[in-house]
Amino acid sequence: MTRNYNFSAGPSALPEAVLQQAQQELLDWHGNGLSIMEMSHRSKEFVGVAEQAEQDLRELMQIPDNYKVLFMQGGATSQFTMIPMNLLGDKTSADYINTGDWSKKAIKEASRYCDVNVIASSEANNFTSAPSQSELKLNPDAAYVHYTPNETIRGVEFDYIPDTGDVPLVADMSSNILSRQIDVSRFAMIYAGAQKNIGPAGLTVVIIREDLLGKALPQTPALYDYKVTADAGSMHNTPPTFGWYLAGLVFQWLKAQGGVAAIEEINRRKAEKLYSAIDNSPFYSNPVALNNRSWMNVPFILANAELDKQFLAEADDKGLLNLPGHRSVGGMRASIYNAVPEAGVDTLIAFMHDFEQRHA
Ligand code: PMP
Repeated sequence: MTRNYNFSAGPSALPEAVLQQAQQELLDWHGNGLSIMEMSHRSKEFVGVAEQAEQDLRELMQIPDNYKVLFMQGGATSQFTMIPMNLLGDKTSADYINTGDWSKKAIKEASRYCDVNVIASSEANNFTSAPSQSELKLNPDAAYVHYTPNETIRGVEFDYIPDTGDVPLVADMSSNILSRQIDVSRFAMIYAGAQKNIGPAGLTVVIIREDLLGKALPQTPALYDYKVTADAGSMHNTPPTFGWYLAGLVFQWLKAQGGVAAIEEINRRKAEKLYSAIDNSPFYSNPVALNNRSWMNVPFILANAELDKQFLAEADDKGLLNLPGHRSVGGMRASIYNAVPEAGVDTLIAFMHDFEQRHA
């Protein structure tokens, strides 16, 4: 069996140890003679798995007690709708920061429910930076402020947490959750599709401060109401049990690595060496402002775009998979999430040097 290095933006690499454990447990979970996928979500066995996963995530992110952790479905995209439905309350507008493609999608969806004020945007510089705190035109009457701390497609990451005063701050952390330490108490709500740093697609994690629950618009479907979900322990209907279980294995793996502080150091090293390989060569480039370069998604282009196809084909042959940039921007992108080993980044850098030698 050969495991390749997988630089996919999502669904993306999972830790090999987690896949092995899932494989070992697949037919007979803990001597029960059946798979976890075949169990009732209300069985004491599955409830135990579910509770442990929540507890481990709380420990990893140091989530304060006055926050609920919800295990939902529908991907981060469904949160673009649930957020205005649940958080507007009696307000009529919300503030959004626009730093790229995912911000725009969130804005478009929220615009169906309220007046969206785009309080800062980096569109004018083609999304190669994030606005600074002083550029945010915050509205004190906004129901909340929404932003995307890490834009997955163009690889733009905030290097600070916006200060929004008393207005609740909501963050789409789909592509950088658990990649570095953050102070959860600075946020009213954090959400993430699982398929990057958490587990398989199909599960969405929501971390929300309790005082924001119970304000859903009357037409909100029960399944989209955070309070209904919280009150039911994320089991108002059948949750994505296998994804939840796998997320739990990933949380245990991360704890065994030394937790978020330890992975943060590895992620810093991985990103620094890849960006320095790009910057130290006239052959490769990345347009993002130095302080906003994503640790998780590293886009780069070749000076000669005619070589793109060959670069990608040769990379593929060497077991360096899924390096094409997003279909909307082209070029290359290496997503180097928690589960991509440092050796994968080293191998990619060696290949980039070698390719350059042969083609420069
Ligand atoms: N937000 C961000 C930052 C993302 O990277 C993605 C997916 N790549 C999404 C939202 C959409 O996620 P989903 O496909 O789970 O709806």
